Amino acid sequence: MASIGDSTTTSIVSVSDELDVHTVSRFGGDEFVVILEGLTGNSHEAAAQAETIGNNILSSFKLPFEMNGKSHHSTPSIGITLFFDDALSSDDLLKQADIAMYQAKEAGRNTLRFFDLQMQVAIAERTALESMLRTGVNEQQFALFYQPQVNGDNAVIGAEALLRWLHPEEGLIPPDRFIPLAEETGLILPIGQWVIEAACETIRQWSESPLRSHMVLAVNVSARQFRQPDFVEKVQAALTDSGAMATRLKLELTESLVLEDIEDAIKKMRALKRIGIGFSMDDFGTGYSSLSYLTKLPLDQIKIDQSFVRNLPDNANDAVIVQTIISMTKGLGMFVIAEGVETDEQRQFLGDNGCSTYQGYLFSKPVPLEQFEEMLG
Ligand code: C2E
Ligand code: CA
Ligand code: CA
Repeated sequence: MASIGDSTTTSIVSVSDELDVHTVSRFGGDEFVVILEGLTGNSHEAAAQAETIGNNILSSFKLPFEMNGKSHHSTPSIGITLFFDDALSSDDLLKQADIAMYQAKEAGRNTLRFFDLQMQVAIAERTALESMLRTGVNEQQFALFYQPQVNGDNAVIGAEALLRWLHPEEGLIPPDRFIPLAEETGLILPIGQWVIEAACETIRQWSESPLRSHMVLAVNVSARQFRQPDFVEKVQAALTDSGAMATRLKLELTESLVLEDIEDAIKKMRALKRIGIGFSMDDFGTGYSSLSYLTKLPLDQIKIDQSFVRNLPDNANDAVIVQTIISMTKGLGMFVIAEGVETDEQRQFLGDNGCSTYQGYLFSKPVPLEQFEEMLG
């Protein structure tokens, strides 16, 4: 059974005339179903036969065709699933063909894909995680953990707020497992908004304590969140509503986020900087790291990615990269922080080379707010 998407109504008839197929039907919209009967009993051979026919269908679409006196061009995507007798219901078979067709579409169209079980398992897991995540958003199952940022005297000058999903059954789910999906589904918008509001609330609380009022809290911002046309207004509103001081908030952006639309990024960053918010370039060194864009951005800080810190001081390449980033940052009049600092040797090397702000397990892992505040004394 093959499910074909993105073709047009009449063309399929001419295809079916040329090929020895048993049933060609329009399934709905731009989707057509082709059923091939009597393929061989050997599944490898049957797959090869189905693939040949699928490729024939694709090549008949390579040329433009006439319809109502107009020339048309179509780029079909074909999903194929094999079945024996009555093993699965027609609904299940259509779903499998559909899954495979979407894989073909994702692969750039004009191509075909076979359904496989692993694909279905991955999709089922994703669907389950997505519905779990929706519940998580509705029931507010998130928390911020705080990881200290320290200066050369080991004094805590601030923290990075790191998102945790506290699932009632699964326990603590790390961000890497759900942020990509949250991005894809748009759920990152309510989640990211909550993160900013929760961070502002913490900043406001800290402002009441002389031991804490100087601290700057860094918050990660995702691309989709930053792209919202009213991102600037949303951050401003979170500050106003909580009564947090803007100068105590720092937003961590990544290079890829900024480069998606650099003019828009500059505009938003400038607007937020005007009210006192700081900016740090996260994971620096892993992306384009080009000087020309760096000088255009109103950044306060560059964060050396932990992958360069990990093998210091022994790895000569990483040592040179880190030295270069530090001197470049200084040359541009920005501050520099190293993340993922785990050992005294790493910290020593960084300090000797002019980096005097650090974050990493050497000082503390990210911890819940109460624990973080206990650490401060
Ligand atoms: P990131 O922004 O690069 O955060 C640093 C990650 O490194 C954190 O992982 C942190 O726990 C970990 N880390 C800190 N010190 C060390 C160390 O010494 N050694 C090692 N091996 N790792 C260290 P985490 O908390 O799992 O966060 C992973 C990523 O999830 C973050 O990477 C960030 O991209 C994303 N993320 C976290 N919170 C948020 C959020 O509120 N919003 C968005 N959009 N993304 C977030
Ligand atoms: Ca970060
Ligand atoms: Ca980082």
